[in-house]
Amino acid sequence: MLEEALECIKASEDGVLQCDLWKRLDIDSRKCSRIVIKLMNEQLITREPESVKGARTYRLRCTKVPDSDRFKSLLADDIFEPCAGCISECVPEHCPELSEWIFTIIVSGSADLDHSAKKVPTGIQP
Ligand code: SF4
Repeated sequence: MLEEALECIKASEDGVLQCDLWKRLDIDSRKCSRIVIKLMNEQLITREPESVKGARTYRLRCTKVPDSDRFKSLLADDIFEPCAGCISECVPEHCPELSEWIFTIIVSGSADLDHSAKKVPTGIQP
């Protein structure tokens, strides 16, 4: 039932009212409250108070799950772009962390080029 509730909340970009959720899931409001608390404890949803026709309820929203490819462009092999979150005094031209990251990008790019070069027909001499 936990997963059904989460899917129901995920389905709406604007979230779901808790008073609607238990009706949709065909469960009583107490059981719905327990499910909502479990989902909140697992940080899968957020809950904000809201009033509907004078009755207090909550708007439930799914927390955003980071897309696994979202930071892919910041990775060079397994090295994450060093400037993100860096609080060091910055002189990029002399930064060893940044240089290493750029060097890794260049080397991994060269590896791709070497791999492509092997596909050149053997009749062609350099
Ligand atoms: S260049 Fe170096 S010092 Fe500057 S922000 Fe990036 S990692 Fe930090």
